[in-house]
Amino acid sequence: NKDFIDFLLARYKRILVLEETYPVIEQQLRDKFKIFGRLNGHVPEEGELLPEIVEDIMTTFLGLPQVKRPVPEQAPPRRPTLCPGCPHRASFYALRKVFRRGIYPGDIGCYTLGLNLEAVDTVLCMGAAISQAAGFYHSFKNNSEDEVPDIVATIGDSTFFHSGIPALINAVVEGARFVLLILDNSTTAMTGNQPTPATGKRASGEISDKKVSINKVVEACGVEFVREEDPYNLKNFIELLKEAREYVRAPSGGIAVVIAKHPCLMDRDYRQRMTKLQVRITDKCKSCHYCIDNFECPALVEVPDEDRVTIDYSICTGCGVCVSVCPRKAIVAET
Ligand code: SF4
Ligand code: SF4
Repeated sequence: NKDFIDFLLARYKRILVLEETYPVIEQQLRDKFKIFGRLNGHVPEEGELLPEIVEDIMTTFLGLPQVKRPVPEQAPPRRPTLCPGCPHRASFYALRKVFRRGIYPGDIGCYTLGLNLEAVDTVLCMGAAISQAAGFYHSFKNNSEDEVPDIVATIGDSTFFHSGIPALINAVVEGARFVLLILDNSTTAMTGNQPTPATGKRASGEISDKKVSINKVVEACGVEFVREEDPYNLKNFIELLKEAREYVRAPSGGIAVVIAKHPCLMDRDYRQRMTKLQVRITDKCKSCHYCIDNFECPALVEVPDEDRVTIDYSICTGCGVCVSVCPRKAIVAET
């Protein structure tokens, strides 16, 4: 509003503008002698405006003495990881069980954290998991069969709708062969749980009378192997991935698409209706750490100063997937 800007500039000698990300408002205010913000360097050009940074900016602006703060105690280092109970963790675990050595092109979303489970090798831009998988296939296709690595690409449901479809059509037409895992958690989790076109909800949250099926879109792209399974059913999911690998390597094979379907646990409605299992670790546990090293659920923790694994019930979601992960059947679940 031009009148408001004119009023501010006429009324105040100096104006401090605090804006996250880009200096959009600051640019509208124009008067570079009165305006203090990112453009004149008073506010750092990049980075988040954390409370202590804002405090320093304000004290400098007001000519007050700088606040001396105690140096905060360093938190122990922790790798970024998928949430407890995240269905993507189960998908990645199954992927690594079936494809022990291979190339794993990944994509952009919270599932990029499959990096830590050694199930994501590349991240370039949205949709690139599929185009890179096709590129890797064409680089290796003239090798002898046992020298063509397994190629398993992962992409989220929203990213697939956003930019995966053109890459998939191209990969089909160019005769590429790989397994594509579409991680369908029925939401756009990383940016705040916006609905996907498959959910039948509009961006506003209203119910739409139209839903777009991922399976049908994949079939329409020309893919002949399209299957869906819940990765929480780890045993069935692993079998399905084995089937997908056989299809890719068969003489008449092509691209195998496996849709890993399970809702995101950040969806409050789903969390309320999901079956929560009471999981516990029994005396059969030999503290081998296999579950921690290979599954990385943050709720599976080592007891400090004891060679023992336990469950952190403050964050355990009761998903029960770890029951199928422990090779000694030491984790049990009750409803
Ligand atoms: S729960 Fe199972 S996998 Fe985990 S440490 Fe114990 S025996 Fe090993
Ligand atoms: S049930 Fe097991 S896998 Fe699921 S959140 Fe709890 S500890 Fe993690």
